[in-house]
Amino acid sequence: MTQGDHSRRQFLQATAGGLVLSSALTSSDTAADEKHATRVTNPVSGDVLQTHGMLSADGTQLVEQQRAIPVAGKTDVLVCGGGPAGIGAALAAARAGASVQLIEMAGCLGGVWTCGLLTKILDSENKSGIMAELLTKFSSRGSEVAKNTHGTVYDPEIAKLVLEELCVEAGVNIRLHTRLAGAVTDEHNRVAAVLTESKSGREAWLADRFIDCSGDGDLAAHAGCRFDVGTGADCECQPMSMLALLTGVDPEAVRPYIREDSRKAKPLLLKLMEEHGVSPSYRGPTLRHLHSGIYSIMTNHEYGVSAFDASAITEATIRARREVHDIINGLRKVGGPWKDISVVATAEQIGVREGRRIKGRYEITAEDLAKGLRHEQAVCRAKFAIDVHALNAHGNKEISREFKKGGLKPYDIPYPALVAADVDGLLVAGRCISGDFIAHSSYRVTGNSVPMGEAAGLAAAESARREILPHELDWREIKPS
Ligand SMILES: Cc1cc2nc3c(=O)[nH]c(=O)nc-3n(C[C@H](O)[C@H](O)[C@H](O)COP(=O)(O)OP(=O)(O)OC[C@H]3O[C@@H](n4cnc5c(N)ncnc54)[C@H](O)[C@@H]3O)c2cc1C
Repeated sequence: MTQGDHSRRQFLQATAGGLVLSSALTSSDTAADEKHATRVTNPVSGDVLQTHGMLSADGTQLVEQQRAIPVAGKTDVLVCGGGPAGIGAALAAARAGASVQLIEMAGCLGGVWTCGLLTKILDSENKSGIMAELLTKFSSRGSEVAKNTHGTVYDPEIAKLVLEELCVEAGVNIRLHTRLAGAVTDEHNRVAAVLTESKSGREAWLADRFIDCSGDGDLAAHAGCRFDVGTGADCECQPMSMLALLTGVDPEAVRPYIREDSRKAKPLLLKLMEEHGVSPSYRGPTLRHLHSGIYSIMTNHEYGVSAFDASAITEATIRARREVHDIINGLRKVGGPWKDISVVATAEQIGVREGRRIKGRYEITAEDLAKGLRHEQAVCRAKFAIDVHALNAHGNKEISREFKKGGLKPYDIPYPALVAADVDGLLVAGRCISGDFIAHSSYRVTGNSVPMGEAAGLAAAESARREILPHELDWREIKPS
């Protein structure tokens, strides 16, 4: 019998009556237990704060034993998520003089811009502030294509570098590889701390103001905020998409298929694919030329995948990556200019279009878009179309046109839509702000996420400095001129 078998048997015996101690707690080796009890996370020796727990009798739940979590930091402002919104928030708060902690679960900053290999910034033309600054950087540091598109078609690697440089320069404390896993409110219903998990173990972070830029509204949900997901009783959401970088094609030879060079590029590429037996799950295949023989492609849809189901996301990721490779293998068989096309990289993160929409102190609605809302506390004006990708594999597999019926005029994003309704001290920015399903499909694009983040960052810093809560602040008093 192996040692594993022995402890398993010991554990099973212990499960005989009701809630029971786990094998770790039933060990007869008291000396070992004492040693474990005093263990603390140590980044040099690799030691960890050990988890103990109890398994319920039916084996469906494990109750963790209480343990003291080290406080890893205290700042004026904590930003969860380093995507376009989080970058805007962290930079604005730090530049306004606040100490800022940025928590990001990926190994780089940028969110969908970088981990998702997006390569195109929409609805940024009318934006000033940090969005304009980033476009200038992406363009001046980027390729001819980036320059010609004023930075709106950018290289994800340049973006990673620029975002890190700007945050370091502004004095933002960056913590990568760290996932928010909990939030604690105090007796005044204010967010007081968040909990994270990483190679450094479980840690607590304190701040005066918190900003949820996780895209999915993770911080707000953990803090107890109400939220909406998708549309209808089944919370139907827009599909996810795996993006990829490609090479091996001469841009001159495939010019008509490149999105920026031809309005007909998408249907033309679809036709080419279908004529050669390739049938992509997203029927608006979008090919972009980035620089020197490097392209990006978006031609995958993963339908009906919840942003809150890690197993479903895993399956979708594996399926999507397979499809991207199959499509490119298929295109290679077209021959001619396509004969050497190949995949350079698929995105590390499948692109998630929709997560939670956190209830704020204003909810942006389809009616606001139809009438072109004007709001006295506008943080920016959005112009991007209602853009609901097909919700399922039936029908056209491209865009659901039925949601466009109400129409859209350029509309304001009000500051109160960034202020959480249900807990204090919490702002939200990016795609998880307060709005309905249709409004979200428009304001979610990155040209709006950055100014939302910038406004939330400034409001967080300023409300902390004035010792008032974010909802007590009037955006008109602090908005940059
Ligand atoms: C496939 C696809 C194509 C798109 N096409 C375009 C386009 O062409 N142009 C455009 O402008 N927009 C496009 N969008 C929309 C746009 O990318 C997103 O709406 C935008 O990125 C939202 O910005 P964000 O900062 O709110 O969220 P995200 O970019 O999703 O960033 C969220 C960040 O938070 C981090 N995070 C999440 N949860 C946690 C946690 N628990 N702990 C720590 N960190 C966490 C993530 O790693 C990520 O870095 C597209 C989106 C998708 C998915």
